[in-house]
Amino acid sequence: MKYFSRFHNRGHNLRPPDLYEYFVDNFWFKTIDLENQKINPPLRGSHTADVVIVGGGFTGLSSAYHIRQRFPDKKIVILEGASCGYGASGRNGGFCVATSLLDWEQPDPEIRQQSLEVSYYGLNFIKKMIAEYGIDCDLEENGMLSVALNEKQTKDLEEYRDYLKLFELDSTILQGKELKQEIKSPLFVAGLTEPQGAILNPAKLARGMKQIVEQNNIEIFERSVVTRITPGKDHHIDTELGEIRAPILVLAVNAYAHKLGFFQNRVFPVNVYQIATEPLSKAQWESIGWGNRQGLSDERIMYSYSIPTADGRILMGGREFSYYENDAISSGNDKTVTSRVKENLFLFFPQLEGLRIEHAWGGTNAFTIGKVPTAGVMGDHKNIYYGFGISEGVPSTQTFGRIIADLLVGESNEFTNHFIVNRKLPYAGPRILRGMFGRGVKWMINNLGFSPIH
Ligand SMILES: Cc1cc2nc3c(=O)[nH]c(=O)nc-3n(C[C@H](O)[C@H](O)[C@H](O)COP(=O)(O)OP(=O)(O)OC[C@H]3O[C@@H](n4cnc5c(N)ncnc54)[C@H](O)[C@@H]3O)c2cc1C
Repeated sequence: MKYFSRFHNRGHNLRPPDLYEYFVDNFWFKTIDLENQKINPPLRGSHTADVVIVGGGFTGLSSAYHIRQRFPDKKIVILEGASCGYGASGRNGGFCVATSLLDWEQPDPEIRQQSLEVSYYGLNFIKKMIAEYGIDCDLEENGMLSVALNEKQTKDLEEYRDYLKLFELDSTILQGKELKQEIKSPLFVAGLTEPQGAILNPAKLARGMKQIVEQNNIEIFERSVVTRITPGKDHHIDTELGEIRAPILVLAVNAYAHKLGFFQNRVFPVNVYQIATEPLSKAQWESIGWGNRQGLSDERIMYSYSIPTADGRILMGGREFSYYENDAISSGNDKTVTSRVKENLFLFFPQLEGLRIEHAWGGTNAFTIGKVPTAGVMGDHKNIYYGFGISEGVPSTQTFGRIIADLLVGESNEFTNHFIVNRKLPYAGPRILRGMFGRGVKWMINNLGFSPIH
């Protein structure tokens, strides 16, 4: 069997190392008081189900919801190693870019337009969760603002604006006074407004989705680390304390996939860090503008992204994307990176010097060569469904859930025919090379002044 876990046949309980042992100073977890929330008990003993979903992030929760819509009577179980939303889904930047599944290279205008609908599905689905089920996740549909720090990046923005035009999407380049009306930074030379997008509190969304999924009669076991998957006509899934068999398996573990033996050297973990400031005073907000509260990002290779939070802080992340040796997962803490994010904040907004940083944390995201994700179905019995490799996943993972449910029903539509479906992921080289590459990038940053601004 091709997809055997690396824990196979060891005969004793192992856990993927270093996944959940650490304290994480995640501002979003504070807003939901995660430490005092009811976390479901683990799976114990032997069970069976019709569908087992491994991973309780957005991909897993959305898959559970969409599968339930299609199959009202199936027994669906989610196994989550920590608590729903503990992975990237509850730690991210809260950026919800509606256009991240656009098929840029598609020459056929009809198929291109269909990819727009698929791409918008994720944000629309989140809005549906809010409207129909009352999830409160501080969603603000304010659009996005991408900024350039030099000529070359301004050209990149213009190129991107022209791409968006192909999809009949409006976006405008701002410079000089017009840009200053949106945001005041001595470093920004141009900006591109994109009305298509939102900001939100991802941990509130994840925990809210958990409740809705449970209301839809889906059983969720938290604190249930899957230690081994033995695929077959009936999959056998071991956790630390129990086991379960099911004919349908959904893999929704994104950056952790390699730890279970899946997509090794094709989907690999990259670690991303963020900070949240103390709430800004009225005068501090006025000094930087940003009255329209868009999601703000820049055009550097090692870009940063920021949002204003509902309680008046700035949350900023990115700037350095770290690969740790041997595909290691982030503990959530890496001061060398968070200090760089902090440095970036005051480079952008020197007028905020002195503002306190109250939280700093990170998480692990999944990357692929070309940064294009995949969702689909695989295995000797075509009964392993998956959604992986998504670096802009807040809306797209919601769409994965729809794609997975449609594939399960056997539908042929714009979702199941989208170019990411069953896409063969390029080989990303052996771990050792990724390690060398990661070290090289760090060395350049530290020694060659791969400066924060260029
Ligand atoms: C710091 C950071 C910032 C980001 N910012 C943004 C952003 O602003 N906008 C955006 O669109 N995207 C952003 N992303 C990416 C986005 O968060 C992810 O693409 C998305 O959340 C992935 O969702 P998921 O459900 O596929 O994976 P995850 O949320 O990672 O969920 C996977 C789940 O599987 C569980 N799991 C793993 N292994 C096992 C196991 N063996 N047994 C049981 N359970 C297991 C984990 O505990 C986890 O809860 C960011 C990511 C990070 C890390």
